Amino acid sequence: MSQGQTSSSPCLGDALGRSIHYLRLSVTDRCNLRCTYCQSNAVHEFIPHEHILHYEEILRFVNIVHRLGIEKVRLTGGEPFVRKGCADFLFRLRQQFPSLDIRITSNGTLLEEHAALLKRIRVGAVNLSLDSFDAATFASITGRNFLPQVLNALEKLLAEGVSVKINAVALRGITEREIDNFLAFANTYGVDIRFIEFMPMGSSTLWNKQLFCPVSELLTLIGQRVELRPSPSDERFGGPARMFSMTGKKGRIGVISPLSNHFCHTCNRLRLTSEGAIRLCLFDDQEYALRPMLRDPAVEDAEIAAYLRRLCQTKPLGYDRLRAKKETAVAHSVMSGIGG
Ligand code: SF4
Repeated sequence: MSQGQTSSSPCLGDALGRSIHYLRLSVTDRCNLRCTYCQSNAVHEFIPHEHILHYEEILRFVNIVHRLGIEKVRLTGGEPFVRKGCADFLFRLRQQFPSLDIRITSNGTLLEEHAALLKRIRVGAVNLSLDSFDAATFASITGRNFLPQVLNALEKLLAEGVSVKINAVALRGITEREIDNFLAFANTYGVDIRFIEFMPMGSSTLWNKQLFCPVSELLTLIGQRVELRPSPSDERFGGPARMFSMTGKKGRIGVISPLSNHFCHTCNRLRLTSEGAIRLCLFDDQEYALRPMLRDPAVEDAEIAAYLRRLCQTKPLGYDRLRAKKETAVAHSVMSGIGG
């Protein structure tokens, strides 16, 4: 595709030539955990219920963007299963879009009872946020003693044959201590473990250089224990993770490095927040309200599609925002409000 996706192209794209095929869809800003790297301990004002998109409005939006080339949709939150009716919504999403690659990011605390449904709707994979296998460390990071619920959900998902990937935020002084637990878990269950760099999101973020652990250091640490070999992504619209297989072991290790080795040039994603705003980039607080259009029966789908095309043309290179930032936070929005 030549430089800059033109508005005649069937798919969404931007002026930098990036095609957009992946939607991160936040269905709620609420969560039953209080992870230090997400919500910090700041007083968090939840979005008023009446501003949260109705499931019908989300389905309308997915229908519009699916016809614009969005083929992968990830449900996020907050914690998606905190929202009432999330399981039914997933069922309807699959019914309406049989070929859609549906993914979920969840903290796993409410997931066990939904494992069979996720298998039935052919979820592509569940990304489970799990930063520690130690109950005390888990509680100190998340603010809750819910490690058993997460591990039970993990077992149930794997027993149902649902593909699971573990997302662990790399936290200095914590993740290094847990490396052997993560490697043992990957080998025992044959799952992907991905370490994600802590991002300075949210005006009261606890991010600081002392807590920040570049994933390259974790790769070195792991490389001292096992032989790592690059492993190509198995996804059509792969994510930003660099994957490695481990010689003689099951499972894989992945790293996601938005700060130390960014991937913005290949970014293929768009975000819809739970209050119906389009966010073109994680590191850019500029959001575009879509809820009024989605709620207005007089507004045609074609009008919304045209608006989205114009918006996507302006999608920034997030890393430029990061480099230009004058304060700790690269963006004021907290992760739970925009779906990470
Ligand atoms: S920071 Fe922005 S441009 Fe970069 S990968 Fe994330 S969403 Fe894409």
